[in-house]
Amino acid sequence: MPDKPSKVAIIGAGSVGATIAYACLLRGVGKSIALYDVNAAKVGAEVLDLNHGLQFVPMATVEGSADLQVCRGADVVVITAGAKQKPGQTRTDLATANAAICREMVPKLLGVAPDAVYLLVTNPVDVITYVTLKISGLPRERCFGSGTVLDSSRFRFLIARRLNVAVQNVHAYIAGEHGDSEIPLWSSAHVGNIPLHQWAVQGHGKLTVRDRTEIFQNVKTAAYQIIEGKGATNYAIGLATARILEAILKNENRVLPVSSLLTDYKGISDVCLSLPSIVNARGVDAVLDVSMNPAEETGLRNSAERIRETIRAMGF
Ligand code: NAD
Repeated sequence: MPDKPSKVAIIGAGSVGATIAYACLLRGVGKSIALYDVNAAKVGAEVLDLNHGLQFVPMATVEGSADLQVCRGADVVVITAGAKQKPGQTRTDLATANAAICREMVPKLLGVAPDAVYLLVTNPVDVITYVTLKISGLPRERCFGSGTVLDSSRFRFLIARRLNVAVQNVHAYIAGEHGDSEIPLWSSAHVGNIPLHQWAVQGHGKLTVRDRTEIFQNVKTAAYQIIEGKGATNYAIGLATARILEAILKNENRVLPVSSLLTDYKGISDVCLSLPSIVNARGVDAVLDVSMNPAEETGLRNSAERIRETIRAMGF
């Protein structure tokens, strides 16, 4: 039976949007990829470059435009449009600027892709996800953010490298805000089926308290480090987003730490933040009830409060 045609619309053809398109092509995610950007020259050039590589990837088509109609009929809409945080700019200022873009664009997108799942990548992603939910009136499962999928992959990479094991065998999550108040869920981390706190394998070391502090510090500062060196982060977020899209379009029921609206999660409500969740064709199908130690639970609450402060400062 032929696959259901699947269309991914990517809003913003900057470093992140273009790399998501590239990662989708390489992984064979989405039969039809549409890029939309207000900068017609940029989106045209990115589409031309991507089209010249079609011979080397699974069958797909790529189109792009400065006209939003290019997104018509999309199954998933990924929003990356917006500015990055500039030196000296507050989180609230960035949130306000990027929320204004969503406020203008989301109603129009709903006109051309009313049944799509909406995935937010634009920062601050937890706040922008919340704002988009409010503007759109979409059900919570169909509007969520990439959250800490990227932060968790940085976390897993660093643990794997320190223990000399495959990153795919490390099961560890960063929860909360995609940003400074995020928290590492050390107490539920595993390598294979061995809890990380019990891991002591000859030739593969074990993590000391200092290792843990260093690893988490590296996760938190990774984006700043990359931006200082090359101006933007794009490859890992491109791959992480393609992974989320794959879970949606192939109805995979995959556990991913995406950012979604919480209702009474350990007493936390009315805020979007990341927790391991099941992602499938409906979007975020369920947020997992993860066991946390008291410090992790307190950290999650603090993180929720930090996000809420920005949301309130914006008048929501
Ligand atoms: P960029 O400046 O390279 O690209 C942004 C693009 O958005 C530009 O091409 C611009 O023309 C376009 N744009 C602006 N306003 C628009 C509008 N109204 N309609 C359509 N397009 C519009 O930035 P980037 O490096 O691609 O980053 C994009 C966003 O992704 C930023 O907010 C960044 O912080 C965020 N980001 C998030 C994560 C994550 O894990 N959530 C990771 C990396 C980057």
